[in-house]
Amino acid sequence: MSQELPIERIMQAALLTCDPATPLSEAATRMAERRCSSILVMQAGKPVGIWTERDALAVDFSDLAAMQCPIAKVMSSPVSSLHRSTPVGEAMLALDADNRRHLLVVGDAGEPLGMVTQTDLAVNQGIEPYLRLREISSVLSHRPLVLPGHLLLAEAAAAMRQHGDAAVVEANDAGELGIITERDVVRFIARYPGNTPVGPLASRPLITVREQDTLIYARDRLIDLRLRHLAVVDTGGQVVGLLGFRDMLAGAERLYVEDLRRALEQRDKALALSRQNLQMAERVIDASLEGIIITDRNGVIEYVNPAFCQVTGYGEEEAVGRTPALLSSGRHDAVFYRRMWHELDIHRYWRGEIWNRRKGGALYLERLTITAITDEDDKVTHYAALFSDITLARENEERVRRLAYYDALTRLPNRRLLEDRLALAIRHAHRQQQRLAVIFIDLDHFKQVNDTLGHAVGDELLLQVAERLQAKLREDDTLARLGGDEFLVLLSELDGLEEVTRVARRLIDAISQPFDVLGNTFRMGCSLGISLYPEDGTTADTLVRSADTAMYRAKREGRNTYRLFRAEMNDHDSRLLALESALRDTVESGEGLAVHYQPLISRDSGEVEGAEALVRWKHPEFGSVSPATFIPMAERSGLIIPLGQWVMEQVAEQLCEWRKAGLAPPRVAVNLSASQFWQRGLVEQIRQLFARFALPPGQIGFELTESVLLDRQQEAVAVLEALRELGCRIAIDDFGTGYSSLSYLQDLPLTTLKVDRRFVQRLAGDESERRGSAAIIAAVTGLAQELGLRVVAEGVETQEQLDALARYPVTLIQGYLTGRPVDAETFATRYLHKG
Ligand code: C2E
Ligand code: CA
Ligand code: CA
Repeated sequence: MSQELPIERIMQAALLTCDPATPLSEAATRMAERRCSSILVMQAGKPVGIWTERDALAVDFSDLAAMQCPIAKVMSSPVSSLHRSTPVGEAMLALDADNRRHLLVVGDAGEPLGMVTQTDLAVNQGIEPYLRLREISSVLSHRPLVLPGHLLLAEAAAAMRQHGDAAVVEANDAGELGIITERDVVRFIARYPGNTPVGPLASRPLITVREQDTLIYARDRLIDLRLRHLAVVDTGGQVVGLLGFRDMLAGAERLYVEDLRRALEQRDKALALSRQNLQMAERVIDASLEGIIITDRNGVIEYVNPAFCQVTGYGEEEAVGRTPALLSSGRHDAVFYRRMWHELDIHRYWRGEIWNRRKGGALYLERLTITAITDEDDKVTHYAALFSDITLARENEERVRRLAYYDALTRLPNRRLLEDRLALAIRHAHRQQQRLAVIFIDLDHFKQVNDTLGHAVGDELLLQVAERLQAKLREDDTLARLGGDEFLVLLSELDGLEEVTRVARRLIDAISQPFDVLGNTFRMGCSLGISLYPEDGTTADTLVRSADTAMYRAKREGRNTYRLFRAEMNDHDSRLLALESALRDTVESGEGLAVHYQPLISRDSGEVEGAEALVRWKHPEFGSVSPATFIPMAERSGLIIPLGQWVMEQVAEQLCEWRKAGLAPPRVAVNLSASQFWQRGLVEQIRQLFARFALPPGQIGFELTESVLLDRQQEAVAVLEALRELGCRIAIDDFGTGYSSLSYLQDLPLTTLKVDRRFVQRLAGDESERRGSAAIIAAVTGLAQELGLRVVAEGVETQEQLDALARYPVTLIQGYLTGRPVDAETFATRYLHKG
């Protein structure tokens, strides 16, 4: 991994946000539940502040009211933020410079996308080689603060703040140790225990590592146990420090600098030693971070570098004057060494792997390169040996690979691998026009198990959970562990939408069976959130985030249940989902779709002046579905574009047929939804349609509702004018139901106003209805006349209604009275004659 990686790759995308008025305790509750170390305060869509675990230490625990104060009072602002493309290395510097632990990651428009913390950097950075080589003791800077158990919470928080540590050790009267972290303090704000002694509040037992353990071991423990701090004990069992990700990061940086310094020193020494032989210096410089031995031509050691001492355990004074046989492991026979020398004689160079023994007796594997150094006469004067200890590397190669893509505990794919797979699946689904689903699973009350029964039980439980989940999935589905008690399922190639909810129920059932873990029997629940591609997101990131959001809702709304990301879907549940899925199939095949035509009759002449095209859908299972149901559905899911296109083509083809048959069809109006109207290339598409079916200008017109044009009238004018140039009539549909002022009409190139049928129907209603609607119709028709627009009265069902319209300047009548929508054939027989 490199420092060049953009931070968006390692950020936590699930942002926790609240508004400025949120009481502190509520914010803390949400942070604790989500195990977030910060909460972003948003106002009118903009981040205005941030409140972090560190800030929690500043709360006055002696004052109950302090827990309820609005977060705006205590948050930090402004919020440090970086663009999503900022390299990780730069982000590290920024965190250091600001002395902050959180950075907001924002998009091009400054919109918040996620958070990056020091922990993320420590976990994701390419510092593994360092962590592998170093012992924990090398990064411990100071002894931890030890608080007596009788200290009151308020005093403890103040002491932590003053000491500047994210965690402290707590010792009760019996001398038993526990730990209190900033995260715990957040929980105390969430659930205020009173200003009581901290003894009973601390987490026990203290999870420890030994001073001489490697940092990589500590890091893996932290990740596996989902802890943020470990206690470090010396050989006597005394706690000598607390270790968190931050310490590792700082330590690794310091060590890196130190190694560089040493490498430089070593280069200087080597230069001095080989003034007559620059070649050697160059080679040494090249490899100066490796262990180096320089011997004379007889193999007597003249020089060793610090890395040599570090790996072998021998000091410089112990090695100089001896031969490398000092390190012999006894693992290689005489033949091996003879061959090596033979090679060196001939090629002046040998490279291989060799087992040696450290001073302490331990065997280690090194990759060794020996170069003979010669003088001007090509006589060997020295040998330089460069080596690196690859024991751990060899052992860790597999482990590291797994760590990078698999979860260490469950061996399931981790977030990184999941995101890769999800991205692939999305591409596939896009190509195949398929759906896929992401299910976010979070165990309910897992932390309690961890806290009360210990981490061993927690780990074992997670293993069993993973097993049960896996058993309920198909082979092609991906189950991943995101960390802690969070799992994620990727279901690809969904057959139907009910399938997702069926799987969700199956998973919940599997988890709710009693667990038997290391002699403890108990029950667990889990909360699931489901997001669907493409509806709820078209990138791996948004899908996971949507599923997370839905999971959170499941938790809030009772736990041990699932929620779909789109709340409205939960209400109508799977019937609507199934309907939407059916619509998708229908739109693809065109089967079950039809266009009906309803005549618009001239009030004066009684002639058919035009027709409106209305789409019809009949499904084998669901029967006839009203456009009032499936059009909004199509709009939401994006299906309206292909559907609308299908309608338009049908109409064009039909008109063409009629004309070929010698009939004289009237102008036909097609309804346009907002996303259709605003799609790029619409005008061009219509122009081509006219050409393809040889239609005269204006043969097809369009109906739009006011809401389509809302807020974008300026831009709309251009599109409308282009349509007018094709001769198309443009009607404002459902007029009177929108919000627009009448005056905006005069700026738009329209031809027709359609008065919504509600007004028409009320015109013949009771006294009060009649008066209101008469006023509107009078105003609308009057205005239309003035603007030179035709007026259509929609939904005229009775003679009474028609009569009531008599005194208004209405041009056209459309309704059941004058003609219901009918299929094309019926329309032709009833209304069309040879032209
Ligand atoms: P709309 O554009 O207002 O269409 C007129 C609706 O009024 C049609 O309902 C029509 O059948 C109905 N109607 C006509 N005369 C009467 C009458 O006398 N009384 C009553 N009660 N109703 C009458 P429909 O076909 O159910 O369509 C509902 C809505 O669906 C349409 O409202 C339109 O917004 C949308 N829609 C229909 N077809 C399409 C289409 O191809 N594309 C788009 N984007 N939307 C469509
Ligand atoms: Ca219409
Ligand atoms: Ca209408």
